[in-house]
Amino acid sequence: MDDARLRQTLVAELQRSGAAEEPAIAHAFAAVPRHCFVPEVPLEEAYADRAISIKSAGGETLASISQPSMLGRMLELAHVERGDRVLEIGTGSGYNAALLAELAGDEGLVVTIEVEADLVERARMTLASCGYERVRVVLGDGHAGYAPDAPYDRIIVSARATDITQAWWDQLRDGGRIVVPVDIGVAGEYAVGFERTDDAMHSIGIVNCLFVPLRGERETTRQNIFARSPSARYGGRPRSIREILAVPTSDASAELLEHADIVVAQPTTTFAISWA
Ligand code: SAH
Repeated sequence: MDDARLRQTLVAELQRSGAAEEPAIAHAFAAVPRHCFVPEVPLEEAYADRAISIKSAGGETLASISQPSMLGRMLELAHVERGDRVLEIGTGSGYNAALLAELAGDEGLVVTIEVEADLVERARMTLASCGYERVRVVLGDGHAGYAPDAPYDRIIVSARATDITQAWWDQLRDGGRIVVPVDIGVAGEYAVGFERTDDAMHSIGIVNCLFVPLRGERETTRQNIFARSPSARYGGRPRSIREILAVPTSDASAELLEHADIVVAQPTTTFAISWA
């Protein structure tokens, strides 16, 4: 099969499984040639619904191209519209940035930040060769966001975070959305889509995910977890989350526990989590 047929098959699979229900998202998957972003693997592998490691060191994966079905679900939560200004943290191969560029269109803006210089180079070259030279690939630590092009309508974090950093709060407009895989201690790892209203972020959707961690100073941060009751914390069975409210830790109060089952306080953001 040629790449166009393989891409069509992948899109049909994503639509069937509910990972690309919005036509714009299916269209983006159909338009971006995923194999160009992972030239190191055979064509068939490039169009399998799997993550592929693209950089590792000492047996640890530092970067991978994300699994299409997981990206599709995160993009649904992001709900990028034409003309949007979008910031991605963790460029990796550049594949997700290309999908975002399809969604935001020529009138939008996509900025993506990557901490590994060789991956920045690689992504710039791939994006340019596929016609996405308008994507801005920046070398830097994504914890700080990218102030020169702020504010953003959407922020998508493509690596596992433990906090919503001050820079992301500062650079996301009111009413904007952030989709971020958060490691919430007892609760596990989820990609959470939040909509921001003033100084609060309300979850609009939560999907299971698996990401490489963001590297940098915050990696080792310890979280403080408060539970409404011991059973709220130790349920003894896997639980799913109904909603998460995220507020600046400087504004957080004990009253959050009246409305949530557990509260996870990070240096910048406090997450109030309610079980389903
Ligand atoms: N969106 C990518 C997947 C990226 S994997 C794709 O579609 O291919 C996560 C990426 O985040 C890796 O490339 C890793 O190097 C990068 N990363 C890790 N910590 C980072 C940080 N602090 N700032 C910016 N990028 C970071």
